[in-house]
Amino acid sequence: MTPQRAAITLTKILDARDGVDRFDRAPVDPEWLALNYSAQVFSNEPIVVVKGEALDGCVGALVFGETKPRRWGILYDERQDPRRRNFTVAHELGHYLLHREMIEETTPDGLYCSEADVEQGRGSTAIEKEADLFAATLLMPLHDFRKQLGPKARADFTVLGRLADRYGVSLTAVIHRWLDYTETRAMVVISNEGFALWARSSSAAFRSGRFIRTRNAMFELPETSIARSRLASTPGVMSVTQPVGAWFDEPVLETSLRASRLDQEITLLQLDASYDEIPDEPVPDLVDRLAEPHSRAR
Ligand SMILES: [Zn+2]
Repeated sequence: MTPQRAAITLTKILDARDGVDRFDRAPVDPEWLALNYSAQVFSNEPIVVVKGEALDGCVGALVFGETKPRRWGILYDERQDPRRRNFTVAHELGHYLLHREMIEETTPDGLYCSEADVEQGRGSTAIEKEADLFAATLLMPLHDFRKQLGPKARADFTVLGRLADRYGVSLTAVIHRWLDYTETRAMVVISNEGFALWARSSSAAFRSGRFIRTRNAMFELPETSIARSRLASTPGVMSVTQPVGAWFDEPVLETSLRASRLDQEITLLQLDASYDEIPDEPVPDLVDRLAEPHSRAR
């Protein structure tokens, strides 16, 4: 069973029960789903508890009782924001549906997931990436997401914030989901005091050589970037068109949000639609593409 298939099965059940317009009314409730779906479909080994605890060093866990038939439980760190909690619970439900046999055999104390494993798609193992993909597919189905923000549309924090409300997830979870399918050249950089913690490009941006390495390298944002130039200033959203040379060898629309709660800046970089793909081969229809209006749907 793939993560997408598992999530789409649940999506179809929820669509049939609540209508395909269900997100107009409420996001998915992964806690309710974990308890009720497992009780109905896997009644011999259901999830019987979903609860918050003070978990140190991890944000969520899938645990099981010692006796058989198995009883399963999902734990989440109670200090999490409710939106992050939704994603964490969905992530653990993904482990239950996809990996519980392996977890029973290999981790007798249950599976504990770090913050990096959950939501940011940086999980070190294949099962963490699968649980993230399951959670994103379940909480933010693309059939609904694409209607809200088309694949050729540019994004801004107003739209992304509205989508975070719609799906009951964090802004970064929404941005990841958008980067999964957008056909625009875009990237996000999460930074702290001007240094990138991580960055991710859309596939179109990546193919054109627009990406930043953060895994084994320290990347300091450009001096003129909003995140660096207003380090000590007030929270909020700012936007500026950066000239050639600031970030890349082309202009960039930079939008930056500094959350007051988190000591982090979220920077969105959006580039024009026309570009040479890397490797640097002549693009036959480049002239035609340059002649077209740039695909700024918004
Ligand atoms: Zn996990």
